[in-house]
Amino acid sequence: MDTSFTVETLLVHADADPTEAAIAPPLFASVPFSAGSAEAFREMNSGRHDRFYRRYGNPTQARLEQVMAAAEGAETGMATASGMGAISTTLLTLLGRGDHVVGQRSMYGGTLSLLQEIVPRLGIEVTLVEQTDVDAFAAAIRPNTKLIMLETPSNPLLRLTDVAAVAALAREHGILTFADNTVATPVNHRPLDHGVDLVMHSLTKAASGHSDVLAGIVLGRRELTDRIWQTHTMIGAVVSPFDAWLALRGLRTLSMRMDRQNRTALALAHFLDEHPAVRVVNYPGLPSHPQHALAQRQMVGYGGLLSFELDGGYQAAEELLAAVELPARSSSLGGVRSLVVQPAAMWAQELTEEQLAEAGVPAGLVRFAVGLEAETDLIADLSRALSALKPR
Ligand SMILES: *Cc1c(COP(=O)(O)O)cnc(C)c1O
Repeated sequence: MDTSFTVETLLVHADADPTEAAIAPPLFASVPFSAGSAEAFREMNSGRHDRFYRRYGNPTQARLEQVMAAAEGAETGMATASGMGAISTTLLTLLGRGDHVVGQRSMYGGTLSLLQEIVPRLGIEVTLVEQTDVDAFAAAIRPNTKLIMLETPSNPLLRLTDVAAVAALAREHGILTFADNTVATPVNHRPLDHGVDLVMHSLTKAASGHSDVLAGIVLGRRELTDRIWQTHTMIGAVVSPFDAWLALRGLRTLSMRMDRQNRTALALAHFLDEHPAVRVVNYPGLPSHPQHALAQRQMVGYGGLLSFELDGGYQAAEELLAAVELPARSSSLGGVRSLVVQPAAMWAQELTEEQLAEAGVPAGLVRFAVGLEAETDLIADLSRALSALKPR
């Protein structure tokens, strides 16, 4: 496939098989595959293969990997059972006792828990830094630093990391970089273009897009993904072929869905920014976002995720969530239905109050994951719910 096509075209065509008459890809459920001869059997189990035994790969999964790799501008990809499966398998491959990893203070809750609770138990040191400060990454580097993990825009504060600057810094020190691109998707941001070594996605979110798939993927140079695949065959966080098939189907419409979510989220951000009950709106597309210039430089669109802080604090956020009609109270993002959540309530289980404060999550923060409803209906719904807030 000519990789000079646009992301939109690659999402539709990258896995096209000219020998196949079927327009939609087949779904392979079989776990083992058979071989006609001893030689063929040896062949199908040498190197990375997708027709041997499903834990090692699967032809439906391979097509998903092909499409995501093309969309991200990666040489290869390896799909996993979930986004966390991609992150944990990658960390277990690249890090060992005595190594040091740098992450961000603001990252996906599961990633933070993994870095703070599991990774140190393996004798691996962890430093979390403020992502908006490139110098903080530089200051965190030690002689044993092997990996820097990035997430931009981060969740739920929509802070950005200067990906090109951090990737250049890491390269100078011979350190690998690994970016979580779940929120932006390759439609809005392609970290590999900015010098990052590995990209991962929770395909559970916008990539599959319909809130009915759990899957992940890690993408990058073959030399790296082959090593991660070796670990993966032993860890076994394997994506089901049906989830791979649904994720592939979702990817065909990703560019349309993201275009719409980009536009709706920007409109909601402007509406909220002018609302008297709202203290601050976090959205990289707003000119008032402290990193708007960086967003313009490294992103194509600004995504479907925004957050805002209500003047009335925790109680006001609770009231608002109870009053909105269209968005469901749910922790995911990137689906067809808008989802809204109060991060301080959602993470009360996973993170301590100190960890929340350290991550800079105010009690009155509301995270809004835009779906595909009409912008006018979402604004009307929010407007009504905001006006109904009790005066305080
Ligand atoms: C959801 C999410 C993950 C974890 O993905 P799962 O598929 O739920 O394991 C990782 N990073 C980000 C940014 C996410 O939103």
